[in-house]
Amino acid sequence: MKKLLILGGGTAGTMMLNKLAPVLDKKEWQITLVDEYETHYYQPGFLFIPFEIYTRNDVIKPKKDFYPSGVEVIMSKIDMINPKSNEVKLANGKNLKYDYMIIATGCKIHPEETEGMKNGAWHKNIFDFYTIEGAVALAKFLKHWDGGKMVLNITEMPIKCPVAPLEFVFLADWWFTQQGIRDKVDIEYVTPLPGAFTKPVASKFLGEFLEKKNINLTSEFSIARVDSTENKIHSWDEKSIDYDLLVTIPTNMGAEVIGESGMGDDLNFVPTDPNTLQSKDYENIFVIGDVTDLPSSKAGSVAHFQADVLYENFLRAIEGRKLLPHFDGHANCFIESGFGKGILIDFNYDVEPLPGKFPLPGVGPFSLLEETRMNHWGKMTFRWVYWNLLLRGAELPIEAQMTMAGKQRQ
Ligand SMILES: Cc1cc2nc3c(=O)[nH]c(=O)nc-3n(C[C@H](O)[C@H](O)[C@H](O)COP(=O)(O)OP(=O)(O)OC[C@H]3O[C@@H](n4cnc5c(N)ncnc54)[C@H](O)[C@@H]3O)c2cc1C
Repeated sequence: MKKLLILGGGTAGTMMLNKLAPVLDKKEWQITLVDEYETHYYQPGFLFIPFEIYTRNDVIKPKKDFYPSGVEVIMSKIDMINPKSNEVKLANGKNLKYDYMIIATGCKIHPEETEGMKNGAWHKNIFDFYTIEGAVALAKFLKHWDGGKMVLNITEMPIKCPVAPLEFVFLADWWFTQQGIRDKVDIEYVTPLPGAFTKPVASKFLGEFLEKKNINLTSEFSIARVDSTENKIHSWDEKSIDYDLLVTIPTNMGAEVIGESGMGDDLNFVPTDPNTLQSKDYENIFVIGDVTDLPSSKAGSVAHFQADVLYENFLRAIEGRKLLPHFDGHANCFIESGFGKGILIDFNYDVEPLPGKFPLPGVGPFSLLEETRMNHWGKMTFRWVYWNLLLRGAELPIEAQMTMAGKQRQ
């Protein structure tokens, strides 16, 4: 028997399992997936919890509901990977051998990386919304908050879902308006980037949006430390910003096991071929999702496009055929903009988000780089698509590669 080992059974690992299990001959292949937690979180839903649009129960399901029969699933922490001897050591004492491995261990926030962030004020007036605990604690806080200065701060790039912080402040503008306290709240968006977003056209568009919503943008602010007694954040170049409520996107890092196994960069992201998704260091290892070191967005939609390419390349690899350089960095992200509207961006490594219609040129129904009600419905439908199609590895009517059809060149 040949052995395929999948590390991590979140979004990307589950998709790969569901794609490969039906096509690999059960007489020849033993497939094993390892993950440490039983619960699957629909992470895009964390955004909506602070504003009481979703609750905890709206974003969780048991992971086992999404794993096909006939594969071995082990619930254990992965302690060490030894890529030279093709072995993985688990916290439950088991040692697993593999012929091929797919790494899909994602990334997590690390507030302790910033001095003062996790002092006594953590989840008192400093919150994240990138974890279920943070999102639920922030919902409780916002229910009783009667206003002041709210600062949203991105610690450093890369982060998962780079549009989520923008969505958060757009929704906060809507939420405080609904609560009748918008005039009592100052919202400041503080980012290390030179503008509202990573790519120039979208950055200009989204920057104007912040202005329209009376949200102050402070760019090129690289946070060095938090002073939670004075309620101030300080940058490395000695600028400081006051807050009453700090919503932080802390440093995002790949799983510790990647670093401890000597397989990652300084943020524990795995060096990955940007087009084939093969590990840069080991021919029998492939990498997918947030754990890659690629400049593509860390998003479920991106992992889905990667899964189409990796499926093809994995089958090629085991048949000794040449891998196809087909992953182009394609990302497709709905940006919830508040008041029942949304924006859509579609881009890849080379083409930045442009205006137009999606997926059908001239027809849509979604509009690119434009705020519409239809885009909001796209965002809200994504949860159903995620549980029922995406995780199950089903084909979606969107090509893995980005297309220029329907886009207007600038
Ligand atoms: C607030 C927020 C909003 C978002 N919004 C969107 C959105 O609108 N659209 C979108 O497309 N994406 C969005 N995302 C991003 C999306 O959720 C992620 O990109 C996606 O889940 C990545 O999948 P993954 O498989 O790489 O990682 P994950 O789904 O995080 O899976 C990693 C798995 O590895 C396991 N694991 C890690 N280390 C170990 C270990 N040592 N031992 C055992 N198991 C381990 C974990 O338990 C986990 O199950 C959002 C994310 C957040 C936080």
